[in-house]
Amino acid sequence: MGFKYPLYKICIVGDFRVGKTTLLNQYLEKRFTPNVTSTIGSNFYVKRIKIPNVKNLITLQIWDLAGQEHFKWVRHEFYKGAKGIVYVFDLTNRKSFENLTNWKAEIEKAIQRFSSVLVGNKLDLINSENRVIEKEESDKLKEFLMACGYFETSAKLGTCIDDFFLKLVSHIYKSLEK
Ligand code: GDP
Ligand code: MG
Repeated sequence: MGFKYPLYKICIVGDFRVGKTTLLNQYLEKRFTPNVTSTIGSNFYVKRIKIPNVKNLITLQIWDLAGQEHFKWVRHEFYKGAKGIVYVFDLTNRKSFENLTNWKAEIEKAIQRFSSVLVGNKLDLINSENRVIEKEESDKLKEFLMACGYFETSAKLGTCIDDFFLKLVSHIYKSLEK
């Protein structure tokens, strides 16, 4: 029954400075842009991707908060129609990890059925001595968020970014197009 050329809206969320815009820059342009300036107003980007075992390309419309992380009252509209949520925290910042439960509560007020993925970013800054968030904790949060996967990424190096998008989009496809 599904649509022939699916278009999914995806929102990337998480605290200010966790690396959302940089992740999107890497995903869309394959490069690292240091010191991304935070602009007011949300931005969206369009990308077409191929997922395994699906003939037609899928169009993604990816929305970024672009500096609106502090302005709770404007975000209800931002989420409307989203089929996928990317929850991002900074692996060096525990507060950003804990705050994702608040992001979830806010999103669930705006939209009902969606797929999500959990992303711990800035992996390049983590080594065995300074890891503050253990994988087990992240897996627990993943369960709580009902996310389809947990990925540790580096927006600086481009690590694992394609992977989490592919996982999220495949999950959306499976839940909608059957
Ligand atoms: P946003 O507010 O969530 O959109 O965060 P930004 O994308 O603006 O990134 C905030 C800061 O973290 C910027 O200075 C980025 O260059 C830096 N940054 C983002 N991702 C990474 C990463 O994976 N590794 C490192 N080392 N820095 C990052
Ligand atoms: Mg940003």
